[in-house]
Amino acid sequence: MASLQRSRVLRCCSCRLFQAHQVKKSVKWTCKACGEKQSFLQVSRRNCQCQ
Ligand SMILES: [Zn+2]
Repeated sequence: MASLQRSRVLRCCSCRLFQAHQVKKSVKWTCKACGEKQSFLQVSRRNCQCQ
């Protein structure tokens, strides 16, 4: 339990690109490829609703 930095592998629901992001207080993250703003809650679900 000594990990200060935690990263999470997220998949963009727009371009479906996998990328690692550091877990921050904000629930929002931006895709580095297409710049799509989305939330961790969206990508954690199976079916993404943003298109
Ligand atoms: Zn993207």
